[in-house]
Order: sequence, then C-alpha cells, then structure tokens
Amino acid sequence: MTERIDGHTILIGLMAYPIRHSMSPTMHNNAFAKLGLNYAYLAFDITNDKLSDAVKAIRTLDMRGSNVSMPNKQKIIPYLDKLDPAAKLCGAVNTVVNDDGILTGYTTDGTGFMKSLEDEGLDIRGKKMTLSGAGGAGTAIAIQAALDGVAEISIFNAKDKVWDNAKRNVDIINEKTSCKATLHTLEDQEDFKSEIADSAIYCDSTGVGMKPLEDETLVTDPSWFRKDIIVYDTVYAPRTTKLMEVAQKAGVAHVFNGLGMMLEQGAEAFKLWTGKSMPVEYIRELLF
Ligand code: NAD
Repeated sequence: MTERIDGHTILIGLMAYPIRHSMSPTMHNNAFAKLGLNYAYLAFDITNDKLSDAVKAIRTLDMRGSNVSMPNKQKIIPYLDKLDPAAKLCGAVNTVVNDDGILTGYTTDGTGFMKSLEDEGLDIRGKKMTLSGAGGAGTAIAIQAALDGVAEISIFNAKDKVWDNAKRNVDIINEKTSCKATLHTLEDQEDFKSEIADSAIYCDSTGVGMKPLEDETLVTDPSWFRKDIIVYDTVYAPRTTKLMEVAQKAGVAHVFNGLGMMLEQGAEAFKLWTGKSMPVEYIRELLF
C-alpha cells in the first residue's frame, strides 16, 4: 500500500452506515494495485445527517467518486447534478462519478446482476423471469432486466411495507420499457408455483436464506423447478442457501449465489471511475 500512495493518489469513497464489514474496499484496492492505478478506496461511516457534507467533500477534495449504500441510496439523489437513466428509474444510486465537479449518480446492482449471468454464458433477454422481492436489490434487478430486453417479469412480494414499491416498479417497467411486468402476492402459493413453472429464471432478492433466516427458503419443494431453469439467490453469505439446496436437489444445472452480482456491480463502478476493466477473475480468486 505504501508503495502505491503518493501525492497524486486519487480518492474514491464508500458512504454508508454500517459499512465496516464491506468487501468493497478490499476488492477495489486490490484491483487498483493489480493494474497499477493510482487510486485509493476508503469506507466512511455516513448516516443521512452527514450526507450533505459528505457529498460536498467529494467536490472539495476532488474525489473521483464514491459508492453509496444504505441508508443513503435514495437520499443522495437531491445532492447530485445528474442521474443515469437506470438510476432515475430505480430512484436509487450506488455509485457517484465526479467529472470536474459535476456529480452523476448510477446504479450498478442491476447491470452487475445481468453481467454475472453473461459471465456464465447465460442470456435471459427475450425470456421470462420470476422475481421475489422488490426492495433495493429487487428493484435494480427488475429495472435493468427490463431495460436489457427481458420479455416478461412476474414480481412477487409479501403485502408488507415494500408492496407499494413493488407496484411502482411494475408500473415503471410497463410504462418505460417493452417488458411486460405483473405484480403478485407471495401469499398465493399456487400462483407462485405456476409463474416459476414457465420462467427461464427464478431470482430471489428477499434476503430470506441470509442470517437470521438462514434455514428458510420461499421455495421448499424441488418439484417446482425444471432442470433447465436458472435459480439465482442474491444472498452470498452463506455461499449455499436453502433455496440453492432445493434447486440442487431438483437437479437444476444453473444455481447461483449473489457473489457474481456483488463482483460485477463493483466492476461496473470501477469502469465508471477509471475507464478500465476490473481484473474480475483475479479478484474472484482473491476474495471468493
Ligand atoms: P430490502 O430490505 O431493500 O428488501 C427486502 C425485500 O425482501 C423486500 O421486497 C421485502 O418485502 C422482502 N422480504 C423481506 N423479508 C421477507 C420474508 N421473510 N419473506 C418474504 N419476503 C421478504 O433489502 P435489499 O437491499 O433489497 O437486499 C435483499 C438481499 O439482497 C439481501 O440478502 C442482500 O444482502 C442481497 N443483496 C445482494 C447484492 C449482491 O451484489 N449480491 C446486492 C444488494 C443486495
């Protein structure tokens, strides 16, 4: 590290709270070192009340940009100058780029999800996806999949505080893209089963399967999955979730956790800041 940091080092931040557990600083700093790029990536504890000053600091310190995570993904929007179209549709930002004082907000979670499928040689454009969850991750995935040409998305959510956001996502996709989106309640199990039955991919973005729900899954019956469906869980700790176990029991060939999405959302941000491709395979070996 001391060999890399000098008077010309450019700073990139991560503004969120809590954030000290994040893998992003390790991922980006190793990628900068590997490519010999003179950047440093640091995490900062930023709550909503510090956000305005933190964004000012991006300009004042001439930082190249920042990642943004909860609780700031929506709250940061009024402080930025421009929004990428996907970030605008999602109403959320996870990456900020500073071009000579002009701050643009992007969301790379959805592109990271789509890229992670591409890495596996899978193309879901023109096909149908069933997606459970419409929170931060589910919104980014649904919007980007629709923008990229997925033909149909059936979105399932519980009738909880996120239900209205699920409705909003469906309306936006139907208005702004050529994808057909429909909203379903998770309480209707027959409907859930039948939507999965003719989908090319089932993605769970609810976090069920992650602590404290590591023993749970929304789909418990392996017979719901054809062998040729893709089953994707956005959870990456544990590496194999209960949902993934059910899919493996069904003989599904393409079963994924969220590591690929995590890696590729970082790679998309890395590209936006540096103009260079992250050495993804090197980072995958190093971290995962
Ligand atoms: P969020 O709180 O914004 O949304 C949670 C969603 O899950 C909502 O739709 C909610 O209705 C639903 N939900 C919550 N508990 C549920 C339950 N018991 N039964 C059914 N539905 C339930 O969370 P988020 O930020 O969207 O994150 C969701 C998951 O995705 C987390 O596990 C997170 O770690 C993961 N994630 C992964 C990546 C990645 O790069 N792999 C990126 C972002 C989020």
